[in-house]
Amino acid sequence: MQLSEQNTYTIQGIDPIRLTETYGSPLYVYDGATIRRKVAELQHAFSGVNMKIKFACKANTNLSILRLMREIGVELDVVSPGEFEMGKLAGYEGNQITFTPSGVPFSEVKTAVEAGAIVNVDSLPLLEWFGQTYGNTKPCLIRIKPNVAAGGNIKIMTAHADSKFGISVLLLDQILEIVKKYDIKIIGLHQHTGSDIKDAEPFLQVADILFETAKHFPDLEIIDLGGGFKVSYLPGDAVTDMELLGNKISERFKNFCSEYGRELQLWFEPGKFLVSESGYLLVTTTVVKEDPARNFVHVDSGLNHLIRPMMYGSYHHILNVSNPSGEEKPYNVVGYICETDTFATDRNLPEVRQGDTLAFLNAGAYGFSMSSNYNARFRPAEVLVDNGQEKLIRRRENLEDLLTSQEGL
Ligand SMILES: *Cc1c(COP(=O)(O)O)cnc(C)c1O
Repeated sequence: MQLSEQNTYTIQGIDPIRLTETYGSPLYVYDGATIRRKVAELQHAFSGVNMKIKFACKANTNLSILRLMREIGVELDVVSPGEFEMGKLAGYEGNQITFTPSGVPFSEVKTAVEAGAIVNVDSLPLLEWFGQTYGNTKPCLIRIKPNVAAGGNIKIMTAHADSKFGISVLLLDQILEIVKKYDIKIIGLHQHTGSDIKDAEPFLQVADILFETAKHFPDLEIIDLGGGFKVSYLPGDAVTDMELLGNKISERFKNFCSEYGRELQLWFEPGKFLVSESGYLLVTTTVVKEDPARNFVHVDSGLNHLIRPMMYGSYHHILNVSNPSGEEKPYNVVGYICETDTFATDRNLPEVRQGDTLAFLNAGAYGFSMSSNYNARFRPAEVLVDNGQEKLIRRRENLEDLLTSQEGL
């Protein structure tokens, strides 16, 4: 969102307040230009190697976002059959989709593999089953748990020793035994460290572990280093220096490939990095409550629409779109849910009045995709602004949507 010379906020020249008038409030809005810019940034940083981006689409599964990704050469990483189907609906071929399950029933893996997806095997029992079922007829990747702790907080770390994800690198002998027994075709090694990782160091550390492990697998085509790049949450925030990370990892990767004796593909599966900053949750102030303890700003939304602050304590920058030059005051910005749903505590905002439009930033990843109907509330509409045009990409829900699967009406 840009602040114009007239001191009004716009998204590609479009007035966000007008969007809430047209499509209703609250409203998710995505800026396609930001998505294109982030993809280009990642591609540029790794232009020296054969790099592929697999969008971790659990961050945002709107079909129009998936189609935009497909148009700009980004493939998909999915974690469920539902996401796989959405990928297909968005026009992806099965083999452009990686299925990275976490302890799912083998039937789900079977469906995905038979529809052409490449699976990231995340446990020894699954590897055993995969070998028994497919022998060497279907390729797969192995998700390694490197036992490295990195990321924004413990809830979003996925590669430390206590994490449920992947097969511990300490079990390499058992992995190799099963691979040998069934002659399984391992074409890649994968790991995903966690989320909100700013520095190159953890990526280099896990890359080295995968490179070392790779020596035991002669048929590799892919090294997949996962996602988790840190994005900006407030102006001037420290973020992953993509150029630096790209240079450092590319250099190591090239050395590895020459030792390994073959040019491999380097895969990443960013979610947040590609879409977080593109999204805004626009809400309207319902009540400003001047309590002796605090000034509360209630908005027409809650943890049902954006759960990240309550789930992870995550920070969402807030703009008062209706009053950019108002005098700053501290507020607790809270939702309308009957449960404590605080978006921000003691946050300085330009004076907030009833009816003002506020914008929560970084709402493009794990916003709508984590939303619910708690309190029998409808989920918001979603709008994509791309090439200067706005497009409704999901209508707002209604009572019928809440009742459609209930029996006994
Ligand atoms: C969630 C997830 C990602 C994406 O993480 P971000 O922090 O959004 O980049 C990548 N890979 C896997 C396997 C994931 O589960």
